Amino acid sequence: SLELQGLTMAYGDIEVLKDVSLTVAPGTTTCIIGPSGSGKSTLLRGVNRLHEPKSGSVRLADDDALALKPDVLRRRIGLVFQHFNLFPDHTALDNVALALRNVKGMSKKEAARVAAARLDEVGLAERADHRPRDLSGGQQQRVAIARALAMDPEVMMFDEATSALDPELVKGVLNLMANLAQRGMTMLVVTHEMGFARKVADQVVFMDEGRVVEAGTPDQIFDHPESPRLRRFLSEVL
Ligand code: ATP
Ligand code: MG
Repeated sequence: SLELQGLTMAYGDIEVLKDVSLTVAPGTTTCIIGPSGSGKSTLLRGVNRLHEPKSGSVRLADDDALALKPDVLRRRIGLVFQHFNLFPDHTALDNVALALRNVKGMSKKEAARVAAARLDEVGLAERADHRPRDLSGGQQQRVAIARALAMDPEVMMFDEATSALDPELVKGVLNLMANLAQRGMTMLVVTHEMGFARKVADQVVFMDEGRVVEAGTPDQIFDHPESPRLRRFLSEVL
C-alpha cells in the first residue's frame, strides 16, 4: 500500500500541495483528477522524491518512504510520464535491458532475456529492435511502461501517460494500463481520461488548488459529486 498523510509541498515560498492525505490499498487503482495547476504532478513528484515534501509522511508498505534512499524508493515505485524519456540511440530492447543492468545488476544476457519478456507483455515483441524514432508514440510509451515494470515495482504511478499521444494511440496505452490494474498492480494514476477513471479506478480523488476536495468510488465522484467545485469541473470536462 501507499499512504500519504498530511503531505505539504512548496516551490520556494509558494505552497502548492496542502495537507494531502490519501491511501492506495494493495492491488487497487486510484485515479487523481483535477484542473491544471491543482498539484497532481507535484504530488507524484513528492511521492518519488523528485521534489522533497515540506511536511507530512509517505508510507510504502511498512516503510517510511521519506527515509528510504531515493534510488531505492524509485525502484519500488515506478513513474511513467507524459514524455517517455527513452534513450534515442538505443533499441526498445536495450532501453529496458540497460535499466535492468544498471539498477538490478543483471548480466547482459539475463537483462536481454528479461527485457524481451517485458516487451512481449506490453505487446511489443516484434518491435524490440526498433529505436524510439522508428516507433509510434504509443509504442514508445509502452516501452517506457515495460522499462518501469522491469524493475518489479510495488506501485506504479502514471502522470498523464497518454496526453502527448495522437488520439488513435491513446486507447492501446489505456488498455495496457487497465490490464495492469486488473492483474493486481497497485496504481496511482493522474489522468484526464474520465472514461478510464470511471471504468478502472477503485478510488477517484479530485484535487483543486493543492487540496483533496473530494474522494470516493467512481460512482460517488462522477454520478453523485457533492462539492460545487467538483460539479463545476465535471461539467467542464464531461
Ligand atoms: P496539469 O494538469 O497542468 O499537469 P498539475 O495539477 O499537475 O497541472 P502541478 O504541475 O503539480 O499541477 O503544479 C501545481 C502548482 O505548482 C502550479 O501552480 C504550478 O505553476 C506550480 N509549479 C509546478 N512546478 C513548479 C516548479 N518547478 N517551480 C515553481 N512552481 C511550480
Ligand atoms: Mg501535471
